[in-house]
Amino acid sequence: MTRDVTVSEVGPRDGLQMVRHVVPTATKLRWIAALHAAGLPEIEVASFVPPNLVPQMADAAEVTRFATTLPGLHVAVLAPNLRGAEAAVAAGAHKITLTLSASEAHSRANLRRSRAEQMQVAKDAAAYVLSLPGKRPSLEAGISTAFGCSIQGEVPEADVVQMAVALAEAGFDSIGLSDTSGYANPQQVRRLLRAVRTEIGARCDSLHLHDTMGLGLANVTVSVEEGIRIFDSALAGLGGCPFAPGASGNIVTEDLVFLLESLGLRTGVSLEALMEARRILAEALPDEPLHGAFARAGRPTGWKEAA
Ligand code: ZN
Repeated sequence: MTRDVTVSEVGPRDGLQMVRHVVPTATKLRWIAALHAAGLPEIEVASFVPPNLVPQMADAAEVTRFATTLPGLHVAVLAPNLRGAEAAVAAGAHKITLTLSASEAHSRANLRRSRAEQMQVAKDAAAYVLSLPGKRPSLEAGISTAFGCSIQGEVPEADVVQMAVALAEAGFDSIGLSDTSGYANPQQVRRLLRAVRTEIGARCDSLHLHDTMGLGLANVTVSVEEGIRIFDSALAGLGGCPFAPGASGNIVTEDLVFLLESLGLRTGVSLEALMEARRILAEALPDEPLHGAFARAGRPTGWKEAA
């Protein structure tokens, strides 16, 4: 399967943060299996946070272990610190993402640490993963609130660049920019990507976008033009951040696939199979609104995937 772009599905992790009732493990496994069956190459299946803080993630190890049995799937997880990274490694995760916030206010609200403290936490976790013998998981840093913060407002671009440089020096394989609040606009995305990539090159390789202002896919389009080939998204646009008030869900996987394929970029994902995964999601989370233009409108007459 040739893919031009990697669509990394984050619904089972980001999507569940805001959901009130705890999804049973068996339902999560069915959901993840359906996402894999749709051809998604990478799924962020869990976050290794303390279960007393996020009860939705109490089964992180079990879910991760299951996901590693799905053929060819790149299993991604989030870890807040060294302890989380150790648990993620023990569960067999292929990719571990540490998140840091570019906004001091969001860092304190979300991670309960200053930016400087969280940078040290991320470096400690990275040093551990990098020291593992044999084939180690890939190591990603996600810079949250890179395009603005719903608590403090503007986030200086110089802060994001400085953070990206420090993370590259710490040995992270890849550094992603996250529009946690969903405030970014296309010009800003282009400008910040160029600023960061001037310093650390293609190591800044992925974007995590929310669709609060409806500009998520416009931001994808400029990122594609800038050379980005890895995008996070969530089936039906689930998601949000409990510490980013007003932020809405991730960009919709179905619509992202439609956009990328329309731009001639192969994703390897079947839109019809994603519709099947949506049905599982609708049963699992009957109270959650499911978003998405493709699901509403269906396949346009004569439209075909990229060849
Ligand atoms: Zn997010």
